[in-house]
Parts: sequence; C-alpha cells; structure tokens
Amino acid sequence: MPAATETAIRVCPLCGADNRAQLINPYSQAPWEIKTCAKCGFVYLENPPNYAELEENFAWEKTSAAEEARRNTARPLAKRLSRAFRHFRQRVLKRDKLTYLLYRHLPKGKVLDIGCGGGSVLKDLPVRYEPHGIEISKVLAAQADALARPRGGHVVQASAVAGLAQFPADAMDGALLSAFLEHEAQPAVLLKELHRVLRPGAPVIIKVPNYACINRAVRGAKWCGFRHPDHVNYFTPPSLARLARDCGFRIARCTLGDRWPLSDNLWMVLEK
Ligand SMILES: [Zn+2]
Repeated sequence: MPAATETAIRVCPLCGADNRAQLINPYSQAPWEIKTCAKCGFVYLENPPNYAELEENFAWEKTSAAEEARRNTARPLAKRLSRAFRHFRQRVLKRDKLTYLLYRHLPKGKVLDIGCGGGSVLKDLPVRYEPHGIEISKVLAAQADALARPRGGHVVQASAVAGLAQFPADAMDGALLSAFLEHEAQPAVLLKELHRVLRPGAPVIIKVPNYACINRAVRGAKWCGFRHPDHVNYFTPPSLARLARDCGFRIARCTLGDRWPLSDNLWMVLEK
C-alpha cells in the first residue's frame, strides 16, 4: 500500500465532535486511525487520504486488486473457491435488490449513480431509466460515460461533492448510493448537495456495510466491511437514519430485512 503523503484530520461527520484526544478504536490499522466518537458513538476514519490521492494512488481499481492479492495469499484454495462463490452470489443478489428497490420507489426517470465506478450498475439499469453518474477515478469515469451516453445520460469525472455541484437543482428523479457512502469523507455535505439536485419526492437507494452486524462482532478486524483507508464511515441503522434526517431527507424504507444483523449490509431508502 502506498504511504499517505497528505491526510486531512476529520471531526465526527455525524455530530461534529473533535475526537483527536480519544484513543484509537482497536480496528485501526496503522497509519489509519479509526475513532469512536466520544459524543455520539459514530465510528469513522479520522485521517483519510485527500481527494487528489484517491483520484490517483488510492483509486478503487488499484486498491481492490492489491487487497484481493493480499487475501488470496493468506487463504488456502478451498476457502478461495467458497469465497468466489459467495462473492458471485452476493453480487447477483445485490444487483437484484438495488433494481428491486429502485423499481418500487421510482417508475421511470433520470437516475444518478454516485460513485458509479466503470458503470457496472448503470449499464444494467432497465430502459425506463436514463443513467447518469459521478466517478472520481478518471479511467472508470471514462468507461462509465461511454456506457451512459447512448442512453441519453452522462458521467461526470469528479469527487461526489464537486460532481453534484455541476447539476442544476431538482434535475434528477432518483439516486443510487450503493457501496459509496462509506467512502465519502464529507457525507453530510454530500447528502445536502444531493438533496438540492433531486426533485421533490425523489428516492435515494442506499447500501452500506452495517457496522452493527453480528459478523463484525464475530470476525473483528477481519470483518469484510473494513477496508483501510477506502472506508471512512462505519454506519449503523440509527446513525445512517440520523445523518439522512439531518440533511433534510425522510426515511422511506428500512425494514428488518434491510438491516438484518446476520447480513454485512445495511439498506435504506430515503425520500426528498
Ligand atoms: Zn459524533
């Protein structure tokens, strides 16, 4: 992993408390310092790399490959095979649930996929939707843009907050934040800006790792939701709901199944 040349010290993204004086959470992995907010209990990375580094050195396609290689050398073949199967199953199910929730909450319209990567979700969106996206990695943003253009959409290459600023108010009919919000260093700024860009009543489908899941307690530092330094926010159902409400959204859906503690993931649908 490349060394961090520049990091930003964050206050708690949920309540604004400064936790620099607090001890690091045991799940920290040097030099990345995870803190548990002394005031509200939210768990977050205090010293994430800056955006310029995310764009280049820590770009998702690179850190994923390095992490995969590290995990594979640490595992025997049988475990790798079972993991490959589980990975496939989770990807297929995840895709289905994302589409299912979008269908339930949005009949048609312009959908903005924030952190759209190379466009793997955008390209499979049903024809009733016009796909748009924001992606920080230059390589992936170009790939996704090529997939979105023929369907009338486009992809902006920028950080999420800077990318949203390029959209007019009330421009989008819905948004996807699938495996994204855990990466965003300024989640409240992002959600407020997204609120501006969405038309009234527009849904936001959110999927994040669930820090409150049983697997995290059992697996500890080996829980799949930890990814240093890419993941900077560790949400639980109440903390995600609080953040969303603070940013002006209504919680449209978070069923027991969406926050099932045996799943590593947490789903929530917001509405402007
Ligand atoms: Zn806090």
